[in-house]
Amino acid sequence: MAGSLVAREENCIFCKIVAGEVPSSRVYEDETCVAFLDIAPIRPGHTLVVPKDHTPNLAELDPETGGHLFATGQKITAALYGGLGCDGVSVFLADGAAAGQDVFHSHLHLLPRFEGDGLGSAFRADEEEMAHRGELDQVAEKIESSLRET
Ligand code: 5GP
Ligand code: ZN
Repeated sequence: MAGSLVAREENCIFCKIVAGEVPSSRVYEDETCVAFLDIAPIRPGHTLVVPKDHTPNLAELDPETGGHLFATGQKITAALYGGLGCDGVSVFLADGAAAGQDVFHSHLHLLPRFEGDGLGSAFRADEEEMAHRGELDQVAEKIESSLRET
C-alpha cells in the first residue's frame, strides 16, 4: 500500500500526501514516486514529481530513485504537451533554502509553458556578463577538486 514501506518524516507535508493522509490531485503513482498538482500553481498544470521515500536534499537522494524521478518527469512532460497543449515545459528542482526550497522532501517541478506566457527564463545571463576563461577554469577547479574528495 502507498506509504507503508517508505522512509518518512512525521511533520513532512509530502510524506503525508504520499501516504494519502492529505488530499492531492494525483496524476501518476508507481512503487517509487507519485506526481500531483502543486497546490499553488505558477500556471495551471504545475506538477510535482515526488519520491515516496523522504529525502531532504538532492545529493542525498538514492541515485536509482533520482533516475526514476527524472524518467517519470519525462513521461509526465509528454502528457503535459498531449493533455494541456502546452508549447514547452520548464523542469526545475530547488535544492536548499537559498535556491527557494520550501518543502525539504526533494522533488521535481514540471511547469507547462506557453508562447508569450511572460514567465521568461529565470536564469539567463546577459551577454555582457560572459565570464573570462580564467574565471571559469578557477571555478571548475574548485568543483572538480571537491568531486575528487568524494
Ligand atoms: P519547493 O519550493 O520546495 O521547491 O516547492 C514546494 C512546492 O510545494 C510549492 O510550489 C508549494 O506550492 C507546494 N506545496 C506546498 N504544500 C503543498 C500541499 O499541501 N499540497 C500540494 N499539492 N502542494 C504543496
Ligand atoms: Zn517527506
